[in-house]
Amino acid sequence: MKTALVLGAGGFIGGHLVKRLKREGFWVRGVDLKFNEHAETQADDFVVADLREPTNVRGVIDRRFDEVYQLAADMGGAGYIFTGEHDADVMHNSATINLNVADAAHKRNIKRVFYSSSACMYPAYNQEDPDNPICAEDSAYPAAPDSEYGWEKLFSERLFMAFNRNYGMENRIARYHNIFGPEGTWQGGKEKAPAALCRKIAQARSTDTIEVWGDGLQTRSFLYVDECVEGTTRLLRSDFSDPVNIGSEEMVTINQLAGAVADVAGKTISLNHIPGPLGVRGRNSDNRLIKEKLGWAPSQPLVKGLEKTYEWIERQVMRNAA
Ligand code: NAD
Repeated sequence: MKTALVLGAGGFIGGHLVKRLKREGFWVRGVDLKFNEHAETQADDFVVADLREPTNVRGVIDRRFDEVYQLAADMGGAGYIFTGEHDADVMHNSATINLNVADAAHKRNIKRVFYSSSACMYPAYNQEDPDNPICAEDSAYPAAPDSEYGWEKLFSERLFMAFNRNYGMENRIARYHNIFGPEGTWQGGKEKAPAALCRKIAQARSTDTIEVWGDGLQTRSFLYVDECVEGTTRLLRSDFSDPVNIGSEEMVTINQLAGAVADVAGKTISLNHIPGPLGVRGRNSDNRLIKEKLGWAPSQPLVKGLEKTYEWIERQVMRNAA
């Protein structure tokens, strides 16, 4: 039986990845600081451990797994990573995890680790025009991410690539672009825009006004979690070793995203624009490289994922209200 290790298995993408690997017949060990709050884990072995501790990391990487996925990070939505209040924790915690994982995997003679980087590592100067953001993989340098979260991602990309160069590893690096879906954080300050909008609209009466940070004209693309997991496993199993975008190319403004959620909900929602942490003005995935190297790219329309996500968040809101 094939074996897989998922670090960050108590998180949103990690939880979905464990389910996918179980469907494929893997024996799976999941590791996280916490169990997933939204769904019971399907991992065969779930270890609650702090990956900032090298001994813990060596303890969970105690054999040569067939597949290793490193998703653990101190992260959140704009309300967490763009306020500046968590910068030290974000950098220190995530970098420490990655340093420990790269070292332990190498010493255990594990050749290939999947590392989840982020589109937040792209330079801010290429993302000022909301209609024409540049996020091709080779536009990463000169580096100028707009957040410490993005700088840490860039550092850790380079760390895993250095292990490839110097130690003959074959680590794989994805740059995720705004992943969303059910069983993710939807309240409490670490949630992302799609989940926050689904929650606000689920809580609203049919003609209410909801608050949106900024003028809502900033653009983004959003990738449904199932396609993220598909891209993740495909990349790990591919022979392509440079960083590659895993995201959707369907770019929308935040106002359009809110409108699409309201349509799914069947409500006529007005938007009240208030000041808030925003991130870059425009961002979209560029999928030319992934198509070329993997012969695959995400293709599902945004609204399909929003329907499933809204339904799940509406259920959480109703359960909380009961
Ligand atoms: P998440 O926050 O739901 O999952 C990350 C998990 O890491 C959490 O469960 C957390 O408890 C765990 N973790 C944090 N510190 C830890 C520690 N010291 N020891 C053990 N576990 C620890 O986030 P996610 O959305 O599932 O993201 C997974 C990965 O993908 C992260 O690396 C994230 O930076 C990256 N990413 C996500 C997105 C997105 O839109 N969701 C976009 C770009 C990149």
